[in-house]
This record gives sequence, C-alpha cells and structure tokens, in this order.
Amino acid sequence: MSFVAAFNSLPVPLLVQKSLAAGAAAVRGSLARRGLSLTDFAHLISPAAAESLEILSRRSHQMTQQRFGKVIRLFAPLYLSNECINNCQYCGFSRDNPILRVTLSLDEVKREARALKEQGFRNVLLVAGEHPKFVSAAYLENCVRALHDEIPGVSLEVGPLETADYRPLVAAGADGLVVYQETYDRGVYAQMHTAGPKRNFDWRLETPERAYAAGFRRLGISPLYGLADWRYEAISVAAHAAYLLRNCWKAQLTISLPRLRPCAGEFQPLMPMSDRDLAQLVCAFRLMFPDAGLVLSTREPSKLRDGLIPLGVTLMSAGSHTEPGGYTGAGREKLHQTVRGRIVEPDAPAPSKLNGEGASEWAPQPNRATNATGQFDIADARPPGEVAELIRKLGYEPVWKDWDAALTA
Ligand code: SF4
Repeated sequence: MSFVAAFNSLPVPLLVQKSLAAGAAAVRGSLARRGLSLTDFAHLISPAAAESLEILSRRSHQMTQQRFGKVIRLFAPLYLSNECINNCQYCGFSRDNPILRVTLSLDEVKREARALKEQGFRNVLLVAGEHPKFVSAAYLENCVRALHDEIPGVSLEVGPLETADYRPLVAAGADGLVVYQETYDRGVYAQMHTAGPKRNFDWRLETPERAYAAGFRRLGISPLYGLADWRYEAISVAAHAAYLLRNCWKAQLTISLPRLRPCAGEFQPLMPMSDRDLAQLVCAFRLMFPDAGLVLSTREPSKLRDGLIPLGVTLMSAGSHTEPGGYTGAGREKLHQTVRGRIVEPDAPAPSKLNGEGASEWAPQPNRATNATGQFDIADARPPGEVAELIRKLGYEPVWKDWDAALTA
C-alpha cells in the first residue's frame, strides 16, 4: 500500500481536533511515553503543550545531542533553472509571473558549484523549476555527473519523475531527493495549483517512494507552512514520515520546516504560523522522530535560526541565493523575460504597468543588468562563514562535508 492509500484513510481533522482539545494531562502522558503515536504527536503540538514549551525544548535538546552530537550540517541550494510550466500561486517561478528566467549551462553550473566549494560547502542541493524542455532528466543527470567529483554530497529538489528516470540520477552520484508536498490539504492544494502537472496531488505524494525505489538514500519531505492550518500540515507530514521510516527504512529521512516568504506574484500566507508555533513544532518532530534530520533554511531570520539551533535542528542552509546564477552572475547574458509562459523582449515595459497596475518590485527593470529572478526572498542574508562562526559560538561544530563521512571521521 502506498502512502496515498494510507493518507486517504488517515483521520487528520480528528487528530487536529484532539490536538486543540488536549489538556495538560494528555500532554504529560504523551511526554512520558516512548515510541510516540500520531495522537501523542497531536498532543505535543497542542495549545496546551505550548504552555510547556520549556519542557519540550529541554527534552528535544537532550535527544538531539544524544542522537546527533553537537553538530550542525551546512548545505547550500544551487538553482539550475527558474523556468517552470506550473502555476503555483505561492511561488515566484510560477509560469504566469513576468520574471527574468534562465537555465544554466553545464559550465555555468560548475562555476556556481566552485564558488560554493570555495565558501566551504561540500553539500549542495540542486534546485530547478519543472520544465521538461529546459530541465530534462538528461540535463539533470549531466549536472549531477559534472559536480560529483568536486562535491561529495549532491541532492535534488526538482520536478517529480518516474522511478526509471530517477535511476540514472542515482547512478550519476545524486544521493538525496527533496520534495515538498506544499500542502497536505487536498482542497487548498487544488486552489494553489491552477495549471501544470503539479496539479496531480497523488503523483507528488508518492514521489519519495519512487525515489527510494530508484536508490536514493536520503529523502526530504515537508509542507510549506502558511498555506493551510499548520497543525493539519504537521500531523500529515508526521504520518508521511512515519510511513517512510517503516517502508523506506534504508533511507535517511529529513523533515524541513519552510514558512512562506515574499516572492514574485506577491502571494500572502493564507494561514500564518508564528515563531513560537515553529519552535514547538521543531521540538515535537524531534520527540516523535529522534533520528530524523530537521532542516531550517534561510527563509527564517538570523535571530530565530540561532535560537532554534539548540532545540533540535540538524541541517541549515547558509548564504543562499534562490536565483540561477546567484553566486557568480552565471547566465546573466541569456536572461529572458516570460509573460504567461511566452518569451518577450527583455526590455519591454513591465507587464504590471501594461495592465495598469502598480509597478512590481519583482518585474524586470528596463535596461538594467541584473540576475534572474529569485524564487523567494531570503530572511537570513549572513555569509556562510558568519553562520558557521555563530554555530561555533553556540558550542556546536559546523560540518560542511558529507553527513555520513562526518559521523565516521
Ligand atoms: S513551486 Fe516549483 S513547480 Fe511550482 S511554480 Fe515554483 S518552481 Fe514551479
């Protein structure tokens, strides 16, 4: 049975109700148990458990140190392309957004990777929009192969593929696959994804299983917090994680905690999640999944990131750019602007102006040399060295290289 079938029979609304109704005794009971159930997890993310955040934090901190030591693994996203055939309302790369787009050549990808390597990174996440013409499986395979000798840890966050298309990527040296479900609420998912293959909720939900069958040994999952009720999302992703741990047990699992950020299209969060909710969720994930990697990206501001390190985070990005060519300016000379998926002259007036609307800060500026448009605004803009220094100051070791190698070194 795939996770789709398991998910369809999961009483998520009931678990959310249990979470909202949980009292202090239910929270204490769940904290006392070993091997937590989904109901226990619902208790840990309850308003009642928020009153005991200090206890949750202490437990989570201790458990993280026991399992991972005092280590934070660093990685950087490397954006290959911001072309996309999907319309996802919350994403800057959405097909209908009039932005500057580019797909990097292999040489340009290598240039970007070298810049990251010089900053210290040995773990890179290759990210691309979904566009079979520009970002084909063969293109991805060539990118992975081109980087593998220099960068020991190459993972992918790209449009979902068939198992057979994943296999050459694994053979070329990719070891991890990250796929955000974006939202586990089918109704909200349908509203958010108005065009393109991403409209298929089930196909996306089964992606980690296809990736595992192809040989990926690191799987990353998450919703994008801010689209639907965060407790609904958290319970769903916890069920997904539990399923993958049972059925894809040879893989190391990571759970990310991304919250929506400003981007082209100016989408606003539908159901915001507070900083305190985020901290509580980090602790709840750690207590439920002692061995799962917890990922915090530069979507979050520096102060909050620093504060969440001791709670249970194990992987962080640093110095990130969310546009192709962001680290070196690679690809700048081939930028093109698209309007509703069609290429137009790059120095044409911004479409927002053509429509008589106010000028968008994301629209290309006429005659201005610039990089491609980013997927979203980052909040922590500190250079990687500064983040590493802060991690050291907190008593942790920043690790740039491959996770398994770091553990056995
Ligand atoms: S979220 Fe992914 S699929 Fe959707 S528009 Fe952005 S890059 Fe494309």
